[in-house]
Amino acid sequence: MHDKTLVELARALDAGEFSSRELTQHLLGRIDRLDGDLNSFISITFDQALAAADAADAARAKGSAGPLTGLPLALKDIFCTRGVKTSCGSKMLDSFVSPYDATVVEKLNAAGTVSLGKTNMDEFAMGSSNENSHYGPVKNPWDLAAVPGGSSGGSAAAVAAGLVPAAMGTDTGGSIRQPAAFCGITGLKPTYGRVSRYGIIAYASSLDQAGPMARTAEDCALLLGAIAGHDLRDSTSVARGVPDYSEELDAPLNGLKIGLPSEYFGDGLDPAVEKATREAIAVFESLGASVREVSLPHTHYAIPAYYVIAPAEASSNLSRYDGVRFGHRCNNPADLVDLYKRSRAEGFGDEVKRRILIGTHTLSEGFFDAYYKKAQQVRRLIRQDFLDAFQEVDVLMGPTSPTPAFDLGANKDPVSMYLQDIYTIAVNLAGIPGISVPAGFVGSRPVGLQILGSHFTEARLLNVAHRFQQATDWHRRRPAFAEENA
Ligand code: GLN
Repeated sequence: MHDKTLVELARALDAGEFSSRELTQHLLGRIDRLDGDLNSFISITFDQALAAADAADAARAKGSAGPLTGLPLALKDIFCTRGVKTSCGSKMLDSFVSPYDATVVEKLNAAGTVSLGKTNMDEFAMGSSNENSHYGPVKNPWDLAAVPGGSSGGSAAAVAAGLVPAAMGTDTGGSIRQPAAFCGITGLKPTYGRVSRYGIIAYASSLDQAGPMARTAEDCALLLGAIAGHDLRDSTSVARGVPDYSEELDAPLNGLKIGLPSEYFGDGLDPAVEKATREAIAVFESLGASVREVSLPHTHYAIPAYYVIAPAEASSNLSRYDGVRFGHRCNNPADLVDLYKRSRAEGFGDEVKRRILIGTHTLSEGFFDAYYKKAQQVRRLIRQDFLDAFQEVDVLMGPTSPTPAFDLGANKDPVSMYLQDIYTIAVNLAGIPGISVPAGFVGSRPVGLQILGSHFTEARLLNVAHRFQQATDWHRRRPAFAEENA
């Protein structure tokens, strides 16, 4: 059961091979046995899961099951979930039980999915390795010495290990795509505004976007259809119809124009990752696509611009954690200022503090124009690079990450960690969608191919990814960890 995709599981439920309760119990059993080694979950919602599975089985018996009814999944612990601890990977929110559901959660519940729990993540989604979690690092099921990527590392590891068939993540600078690549699964970051951010704990509001992480593009299509759409509670969500993302999956790729950004194949790219990426691109040529080189000339400004804009927004978003209204409060404060200072000093981890400091500095009077305003101007140039490229080609392809998953503890210096996101961050600055699909291995560690499209071309990206998955079997490989412990 734990090997199947969502689409395969739905078919098996329909055929009565097993019930949603049996499936849920099987996966909860695996989490119980295996997650001690992985640490991919922060909370397991055992009782709620079984109740949701029973409701799904009853709906199926009545003939009112939809395509996702009774299918298990997990939620990154950044999604507010009513009655469930929602920690965002932080000590600050260790005791926070959300009084309401995020829109994404509400929609998934309405679709009949069964959430098994909340997955581990870098604190407040700041990180690329999951080592910044208050709840300890997550291990990569392909190699327990390696990181799973971040910040949605728990979601990626749980899917890769066969603990859940799918999980929700968020992506501010790569946090869906990079862990998907490191763990050998498929992860989609939608266009900014495609999915409501209501009830998703805010990191950098102009960049944050939720999306699905699963084994296949086909499964991501199903999930995106369930979570996308306009929401009056998020003024940045876009009022635009939600297509049936599964409809175009099989469209042929004849005539597809693929651009390879020369900046994504330069210095710093691991030659073995480059080789796997180029071999994957050759598969598209065999499917009728044409390939040409393009340029995204402002690529090297993406990380500096992001590390001005994201910390600025974070410093503002995180000012709400003051020990008064939410989360951690220090003991016996002497006065109000002491309450603020000690609650924040005790509740936040080092990386979060570092970013609050940077953001507060760049927003302060006298520095705002030099840093924040300049970064916003650069952001416009980065966006224009993509728009220009999409005049010439339909999609862009390249590696998701310059290296495969690195060892736990290997990237001690924050700047070398920031540089990990060189191919993913510009995508968030531009607001365009991107998907990472499994495309090979370096030793035992997976490599991801990133496919980018213009705004609101998710259906096309899913189609391109799906055709690749029909022609390859990288997405069907499973780590020995998952099998030995079946
Ligand atoms: N790794 C990037 C950061 O640390 C992106 C994180 C994300 O997408 N949430 O900010």
